[in-house]
Amino acid sequence: MEGPNSSTWYHDLAQSDLPDDEKRDLVRSLTLLFGKVHQMSRGELVANLKENNLHTGGSRDVLVKRLKNHYRVQKLSSVNVLPSVKFAPYYLVVDFEATCNTVNAPDYPHEIIEFPAVLVSSKDKAIIDTFQSYVRPEINPTLSDFCIQLTGITQATVDAADTFETVLQKFEEWMSRHGLHSSHKCILVTDGPWDMAQFFHGQCKVAGVTYPTWAKRWLNIRKSFRNYYKKRMHYNLKGMLETLGMEFEGRPHCGLDDAKNIARILLVLIEEHAPLHINERLTLKDYRSREKVLLSSATAIVQKRTNGMGDLLERLRNASLACSAPKSSVDCTSPKNTSSQKENDSKERGQHTKAKQEESANEDKAPESSSDSDPNEDEVPILWTNNKFSALRKQEYI
Ligand code: AMP
Ligand code: MG
Repeated sequence: MEGPNSSTWYHDLAQSDLPDDEKRDLVRSLTLLFGKVHQMSRGELVANLKENNLHTGGSRDVLVKRLKNHYRVQKLSSVNVLPSVKFAPYYLVVDFEATCNTVNAPDYPHEIIEFPAVLVSSKDKAIIDTFQSYVRPEINPTLSDFCIQLTGITQATVDAADTFETVLQKFEEWMSRHGLHSSHKCILVTDGPWDMAQFFHGQCKVAGVTYPTWAKRWLNIRKSFRNYYKKRMHYNLKGMLETLGMEFEGRPHCGLDDAKNIARILLVLIEEHAPLHINERLTLKDYRSREKVLLSSATAIVQKRTNGMGDLLERLRNASLACSAPKSSVDCTSPKNTSSQKENDSKERGQHTKAKQEESANEDKAPESSSDSDPNEDEVPILWTNNKFSALRKQEYI
């Protein structure tokens, strides 16, 4: 069976109590059905989707996938083989707007000016509540003309708004009223890694607020979308909507409207039984701890391959020791200069190498957990993506 979900379904079927000949028959009939779906014209695909009360928008490959998935679910549930892919009961979409200029230096302190959130229930397959609050920036209290034009947020709006600390408190109260995280499992959703790893983390640091636990893991919808539809590159919000035959509703770069549109994409993915897991994580660590972990694993690999000998091994050992030394004597490479950062930058520019595409198969897997700590001056945000770390800047926009 084909499709990103298919291996899971195949596994579910293989694990079921169904007699082997029934399993074989089922796979055979699905294969035949899929063959027919592949041969359908666009009109036939739309008619079949309509008949089954399914969304009819999107490119041809999206329609084919949607219909095949529908038949797969229908056939397998008729023999009581239920999907092991489960949704979280709630998904919380956020999309921050921040202060900006036409060109932003790498160390420009973006401050959040709009804090919106959209709560999606996977059971109701609907948006059930929204939160929106503007935020008064403190380092750069005057918005640039570019920022006002981009976001539609006026100077008067931010002047009258609360500071980040107060808004965050109100947001967390709103989350508590919905029992999010305490009573109900909820997955945070963003479009790209920047909202949390750059804007939210930077803002917590600027405001001297402890980085909240709920914000350390999230689902980057670009990755889930790309993996599910087997696309060769990441699509931005507009691109994802177009692929699904949908139009942007509202005003682009209004945080709440952006979040609502992300939620619309999420709802289509829920309807299609796409896997929706946490796929990015932010770890706040001292540079030196990260270097030390990397160097000790590199040392272990070299030891294994060279039988413990060689110049290289000695050099790695020394470097590893240097990273345990007091801060003043350490000269560790900044993540900004690492190859992972370069790879991440090239990804942001939409330049995808073959190796990158192969790695995407692992993207929906959340990385192994490691100890997190609160932000302090020595710490840097480390974004875990594809089980790799990288620092990042929202420099380039796809
Ligand atoms: P978005 O979610 O795409 O609306 O972007 C979030 C924030 O990223 C905006 O509020 C800006 O601070 C920044 N941003 C987005 N697009 C641009 C751009 N073209 N140039 C500079 N900053 C941008
Ligand atoms: Mg936005």
